[in-house]
Amino acid sequence: MRNQPLGGNDMPRFAGPGTMMRLPAAETAEGLDACFVGVPLDIGTSNRPGTRFGPKQIRAESVLLRPYNMWTRAAPFDSLQVADIGDVPINTFDLKDSVRRIEAFYDDILRHDVRPLTLGGDHTLSLPILRAMAKKYGPLALLHIDAHADINSHMFGEEIAHGTPFRRAFEEELLDADQVFQIGLRGTGYTAEDFDWASERGFQVVQAEQLWHQSAAPLMDQIRRQIGARPVYLSFDIDSLDPAYAPGTGTPEIGGLTSIQALEIIRGCRGLSLVGADLVEVSPPYDTNGNTALLAANLLFEMLCVLPGVAYRD
Ligand code: MN
Ligand code: MN
Repeated sequence: MRNQPLGGNDMPRFAGPGTMMRLPAAETAEGLDACFVGVPLDIGTSNRPGTRFGPKQIRAESVLLRPYNMWTRAAPFDSLQVADIGDVPINTFDLKDSVRRIEAFYDDILRHDVRPLTLGGDHTLSLPILRAMAKKYGPLALLHIDAHADINSHMFGEEIAHGTPFRRAFEEELLDADQVFQIGLRGTGYTAEDFDWASERGFQVVQAEQLWHQSAAPLMDQIRRQIGARPVYLSFDIDSLDPAYAPGTGTPEIGGLTSIQALEIIRGCRGLSLVGADLVEVSPPYDTNGNTALLAANLLFEMLCVLPGVAYRD
């Protein structure tokens, strides 16, 4: 019998363990097919802080999640061994040291045949994860869902911050630039050409406006055809959603994706060779009703449901 989330008929949902989905905790990723990991980082943020509390709050809201996906029929715990391996011990006084620590932690995870799903944490954390991933898989295809391109050259003179990870990842050749998709970008810029750096390097940019009033499913059909069997990483910034759905984040932008489009995007990843994913930028102090963390918990479950090897009851 594989690990199962603790059910609401065995222990009230407001009680019991504080792990993601009330799964068993594990010390390491050994023997797991997928694992949840927290990265309680917010010292890379440029505006509102608070994402250090993201992993804990996402886990708290995940208590309501049940093990079966009632639309896609995914039954992840029927075929995958899953556990929560806890948090990366970042150095909250030093961002660069934290980035080193995150990379080392993921190097260790990836010694095993396991796909990590990360609870953020600010978006800086995707850079060290991609560094570890590229050592194992080579340059990766990337699905980057975000209001922002996160391709700044520098922020306040710094190379490492939550607005620079994909610039650094490109420079370090961690990405297969022709297989990078940035979805949901919008808002105001410093210059009218802010998103052009990405397009000029082969990234495929889908601004939020291109998805207004329509399903994201056809876009995902096209992306799946393009990526094919390549190893792909999914990095999902909660601020890709409209602040109506996800107000609890540091740099909100109006006119964003809906919860339904977010589900279409993640469900549209079924069939891809996903090697891991993150859900970043949930800031509980700005999440006054808990809905942002609840949404994040659900989206992480949906990510689990599209990993290779998941059983479907269809
Ligand atoms: Mn971001
Ligand atoms: Mn963002």
